[in-house]
Amino acid sequence: MTQSYRITLLPGDGIGPEIMAVAVDVLKVVGQQQNLTFEFNEALIGGAAIDAVENPLPKQTLEACQQSDAVLLAAIGGYKWDKMPRHLRPETGLLGLRAGLELFANLRPAQILPQLIDASSLKPEVVEGVDIMVVRELTGGVYFGSPKGVFTTETGEQRGVNTMAYTVAEIDRIGRVAFETAQKRGGKLCSVDKANVLEVSQLWRDLITDLSTEYPDVELSHLYVDNAAMQLVRWPKQFDTIVTSNLFGDILSDIAAMLTGSIGMLPSASLGADGPGVFEPVHGSAPDIAGQDQANPLAQVLSVAMMLRYGLDQPAAADQIESAVLMLLAQGYRTGDIQSSDTTVLGCKAIGETLIQILKQG
Ligand code: NAD
Repeated sequence: MTQSYRITLLPGDGIGPEIMAVAVDVLKVVGQQQNLTFEFNEALIGGAAIDAVENPLPKQTLEACQQSDAVLLAAIGGYKWDKMPRHLRPETGLLGLRAGLELFANLRPAQILPQLIDASSLKPEVVEGVDIMVVRELTGGVYFGSPKGVFTTETGEQRGVNTMAYTVAEIDRIGRVAFETAQKRGGKLCSVDKANVLEVSQLWRDLITDLSTEYPDVELSHLYVDNAAMQLVRWPKQFDTIVTSNLFGDILSDIAAMLTGSIGMLPSASLGADGPGVFEPVHGSAPDIAGQDQANPLAQVLSVAMMLRYGLDQPAAADQIESAVLMLLAQGYRTGDIQSSDTTVLGCKAIGETLIQILKQG
């Protein structure tokens, strides 16, 4: 039976439209092969939306996203909008999208592809085989807790305040996403906190430990965040899936990503409770190379694979895309950002066409 999905496409700014075009072509081919059909609806976000309707997240865009099965986003931003007031900044559109879809879980994989092992700044024997997923809580913790602000004390001194707070419900829902993610991967989950110092972290640790009884097939461990940061660069292979709070995840996901050394290869997923997730590359809109057919579309293509695996529950289609990307690299094709000696450098379009040939050859 053919499964049908409504996908909202948000190409955004800079290299966004170029990499999105490749990703859509890839999705169409895989759809034909896997008996999946897609109804695409393209909408405006970021700078493109500001230029068109003076709003980085027009109401129609948010509504289209809310009514779809998944949202595929490319990138937003550029020099042109850098000095605009806050409500007219491309990033404001992105934050509004995350809030509007109640996306509380951010999934950031960091996988060392054997063909790109030299891109890492760490020794090959340290990073070879690394395959980590960081599950970061996205809508709670110290970035959102109250009270927050700069207040004047009784003695007239100014005092900046942020509050790290999590409710039981917030920890429970991110914990469930993390255990389910670990089930789809290597079956190991490391929860990262600072329970030796922070009460909020002790609650986090207790609840994640309780939750583990519902997932007996997942092996749970705990680390303090300072140790986790060290272990990530010392011996990253020990990790499979990591779950952590908003602040710690912000930092650890970037450390994990940089183990790979290649920003043009990194996808991500942001998930909510029931509604559609947003799938997007980690990199930005790369205005320095926009419109020059130089962008690496593979992070966008791998975001499509994440959409299929974590958003639409179509793991076979996701596997097919990931294998084709590996094959493409094994055959020596690269965009400029990941080129090395004895590789063939192609533009964004040509990389896409080559990938599609590989997919069609099966
Ligand atoms: P960036 O990720 O856009 O670019 C950093 C460097 O990496 C640049 O040299 C760029 O050419 C290169 N690069 C990035 N993606 C690439 C790809 N797919 N292929 C080849 N090279 C690639 O980060 P930046 O320069 O700090 O930011 C540029 C704009 O993007 C800013 O307006 C920023 O606000 C925005 N931004 C958006 C997002 C997002 O949409 N989620 C994320 C980060 C930055």
